[in-house]
Amino acid sequence: MKLDFVNVKCAICGEESEQAVLLSNTVLGKPDLDMKPNGSMSSLGEGIQECPFCHYCNYNIGEFNQERFKTTLEPLAIWNSDEDIQDIIENEPEEDARKFRIMAEIYYGNLDYNMTYAMLVKAYWCSNIEKNKNQYREDALNIFRYTLLEDEIKRYIQLSDISRQKQDFKSAKNYLEIAKKLYDDLPIDASAESTKLFEDSFDFEDELISSKDTNRHSLDEY
Ligand SMILES: [Zn+2]
Repeated sequence: MKLDFVNVKCAICGEESEQAVLLSNTVLGKPDLDMKPNGSMSSLGEGIQECPFCHYCNYNIGEFNQERFKTTLEPLAIWNSDEDIQDIIENEPEEDARKFRIMAEIYYGNLDYNMTYAMLVKAYWCSNIEKNKNQYREDALNIFRYTLLEDEIKRYIQLSDISRQKQDFKSAKNYLEIAKKLYDDLPIDASAESTKLFEDSFDFEDELISSKDTNRHSLDEY
């Protein structure tokens, strides 16, 4: 791991601090089964800067993306009035876990659920406090089920349809089966609209695969 150090003025509170900039990070060996990279977790958070004064986190804390906060308040007032972020600062004494959990909160506010999920998993990897570790695991699973799972199901239906149109009916069938299995994991309160969309897609696509149809079709026909 190569690091460089620079002085950065925090975009939230205006205080200056010395921060590391990650130049390169080489990981040796195979990951754990949960994809945690091999070796110590001590370097995992090095790419993220944290202001020692207000705990603002970002890859460059000199920048502040106001998108998350739909308000015209000054950055510090926004930061201090955000209860979720202040909760994290209060309850997570471990630096790396805190950095990732704060980053997850910022990505969540920016509606980037892929990155929210990735940051929650990293917070879980870094945390050594059992209560927090459990919470981050649960948060990661929930963000997947409530925000990413529907996209994942759509992707497999799409893969099934693309395969069918190129006459690969075996793959089409396989992808559709994966979509159906994922569908079983949707939260009970998933919207009726998407539930109907998925069920119709499964039935229609099944029919098309069985009849070896390679044309493009719309769900309006179903
Ligand atoms: Zn600051």
